[in-house]
This record gives sequence, C-alpha cells and structure tokens, in this order.
Amino acid sequence: MVDFGLTEEQREIQAWVRTFVERELMPLENEVLRRERAGAQPGLTADEVRDLRALARKSDFWGVQTPVEYGGMGLDSVTAALIEIELGRTFLSFKFGGEADNILYHANDDQRQRYLLPTISGERRSCFAITEPGAGSDAKAIRTRAVKDGGDWVINGEKTFITGGNEADFAMVFAVTDPERGADGGVTCFLVDRDAGWTSEPIDTMGERRPASLVFEDVRVPEANILGELGGGFKLAMQWIGKGRFLLPANALGGCERLLSMAIDYAKTRHTFGAPIAERQAIQWMIADSQTEIEALRLLVLHAAWQVDQGRDSRHAQSIAKLYGGVKANEIVDRVMQIHGGMGYTRELPIERWYRDLRLLRIFEGTDEIQRRTIARDLLKGHVKVGQTLR
Ligand SMILES: Cc1cc2nc3c(=O)[nH]c(=O)nc-3n(C[C@H](O)[C@H](O)[C@H](O)COP(=O)(O)OP(=O)(O)OC[C@H]3O[C@@H](n4cnc5c(N)ncnc54)[C@H](O)[C@@H]3O)c2cc1C
Repeated sequence: MVDFGLTEEQREIQAWVRTFVERELMPLENEVLRRERAGAQPGLTADEVRDLRALARKSDFWGVQTPVEYGGMGLDSVTAALIEIELGRTFLSFKFGGEADNILYHANDDQRQRYLLPTISGERRSCFAITEPGAGSDAKAIRTRAVKDGGDWVINGEKTFITGGNEADFAMVFAVTDPERGADGGVTCFLVDRDAGWTSEPIDTMGERRPASLVFEDVRVPEANILGELGGGFKLAMQWIGKGRFLLPANALGGCERLLSMAIDYAKTRHTFGAPIAERQAIQWMIADSQTEIEALRLLVLHAAWQVDQGRDSRHAQSIAKLYGGVKANEIVDRVMQIHGGMGYTRELPIERWYRDLRLLRIFEGTDEIQRRTIARDLLKGHVKVGQTLR
C-alpha cells in the first residue's frame, strides 16, 4: 500500500510550525536584510535565536528528534522533514533547540553528563570536524594525527570549513590513531574541549554560513574523551553524515515553495507591453517547471525520510534527494530571479540572498558529484536494482 496522506499529528505539527514561521520569523526578515545591507553579520543574532527558542519551548516545541527520555519530542524522520520544509519557507536560518548530534548518543555515562546533556539543554555547543585542507570529499585522506602519550592522546593537525567551529566550546574531532589501518579501524573520534587549546578562525563565504578553520597543536586529550570505540571514528563520521541528509533538501524545498509563490504573485502584478507577465508562455513555463520539480522533490525527500523510519538502508534514497534538491533548488531560485527581473537582483528582496545560500547545497555534506558517485556505484555493484527502490 502507498499512502500519501499525513497523520493528524503530522498535520497539527506542520500547521504549528507554519504559524510559528509566519508569526515569529517572517516579520524579522526585512530587519535582517536591512542589517545585512548595512554590513552586519548575516542572519539572526544569538539573542534573537535564544528568544525564539524560548518561545517555542513554552509550547513544548523542543528537541524535534531528541528521544523522549532526554526531554525531547522523539519525532520520526518524516515529521522532522515536514518541520524542516516549513522552516525552509523563511531564508532565516533557524533550528528549534534541544538537539544534539546523533553520534553524541554514543557517549558513555561520564561523557553523557559532560557533553550530551549540556548540548541538548543548549548550555554547550558542539561542532563536527572531519574536513581538512587536503581531505574533503575524500574524507579517508585525513591527516590530523592523534598519538598516545601516557593516559592522554596528543592531537596535531588542521580542520577546515567546520560549521559552528568558531562558536563551539567542544569539537568532535576525527584523527588518525593508526596510520596503517587508516579509515578501516585507524580513525578515532575525540571530544575536545576548546580550553584544551585548539584555536579557530572564521572563513568568509558567499552565503550566511561562516564555517571555521580549527588548528590543533599538541592538544592533549584524555583517553576518556574518545567517543565510541578506539578506531571506530570513520564509521561514526559516516553515521553523522548519513542519517539526516534528507533534511538539507527538505529545507531547500520549503525555500523553493516560498520563492515560487513570490514569483507567481509578482508575475500577476508586473505588466509589460500592456499585459501582466503571467500571461506570457515563457513565464508560465518557468512556473510550471518549478512546480513540477518541487513536487518531485517532495516525494524524494519524504521517501528518504520514510526509509530512515523503516530502519532501511536509506543511503541511496538520501543521495538522490540531496542531489536532486541541490540541483533543482538552484535552478528554481534562478528562474524566480529571472521572473523578478532587475528587482530580483537587488538586495531589497531576499531572492539574491537565497540564490547565494542555496548554492551551498551542491557542495557540502557530499557534493553533487559524490552523490552521483554513490548512486551510480549502488547500481553498478548491484546493491540497488533499477526499478526496485520501493520494495
Ligand atoms: C559552508 C560549509 C560548511 C561546512 N561544514 C562542515 C562541517 O561542519 N564539518 C566538516 O567536517 N566539513 C564541513 N564542510 C566541508 C564540506 O563537507 C566539503 O567542502 C565537501 O565535502 C567538499 O570537499 P572539498 O571542499 O574538499 O572539495 P573536493 O573534495 O576537493 O572536491 C573538489 C571538486 O571535485 C569534485 N570531486 C571530488 N572527488 C570526485 C570524484 N571522485 N569524482 C568526481 N568529482 C569529484 C567535487 O565534487 C568538487 O566539485 C563544510 C563546507 C562548507 C562550504
């Protein structure tokens, strides 16, 4: 049976988030655009995020996918995708509080108290650090080294493009502990407090995100700070990247919905040569193509999320959703800019900002080319058979 309907709970949650976005986030958009035009840091301020999260928490909207025993809502992946689509309808980047990285749940009892629980409560901030100047797509090529010295490990190396790396007070750092074994049992994940001595520098980018480069020079970490197993780091890294990949195109999908709505409104009111541009076939085709791709993306995103909920191997479906979402969202924002003409190119409207931000989706958490590599490999090796993805 294929059921495209939502449960009552999902519809209620979707409506609640939509109202929250429309009442609390969208009214801040013009002010954020104004601040950015004046040269301020992009996005919401830390105070604004804190207040918005506190407001959501009053309605018990806290820890979307955090297990109930940790005080969260413990929602399934399909519902998380629906929430992310709604959040994507504003260009302001906002996440509800009460979340921790999935791999932090591998923490032992002591680490749970020091890292997992304070991250869920918002007292501490983490970052996920695998990428290095010489190792991005090819994550197995990392060189950051951890060497055992008595009861400690000493870390040396550099990480780059680390989201939240400038704000985090601890990093999940992936380092080589056994060069002979490399990614196959020779990479370990360490929980490294900032006061252990690592430094960070922000990296300016074309979009809202300001990732950081992190430098580790003889940073000492006690053995007790290994997350999971010694040598089990590469598996953890793949788990981190793999589990929530569908949320990225879900967010972009929400953005595309809003952008297309803007284009439709504009096309109906903008007149050229005595008629609204909405009457021109050239404009109608851009609208029709965008809507078709939005609906296709919705199915891909929800199918990938559903596979996660079913406990199936969702990697293939997630790669397809991420690839299609990245490519199509960039085409759609480009069309929406085209429909708006010169106004679309200005910084009065959020379109050029969305245009810059959406470009990232084709690069981070697996580039388009890496998703294609995964999809093609699955087929060529027979892990997935053509036409049998719904079994
Ligand atoms: C804003 C931002 C935030 C990020 N946040 C994080 C984070 O929090 N933590 C983290 O660890 N990393 C993070 N990253 C790093 C990100 O995951 C990498 O940039 C990404 O994986 C690509 O790696 P690279 O930049 O080294 O490009 P490269 O791997 O050098 O790739 C360069 C080009 O070659 C292509 N290419 C590479 N290999 C192949 C191949 N086999 N076949 C065909 N084409 C290929 C790529 O697709 C790309 O087009 C972030 C990056 C950005 C820009």
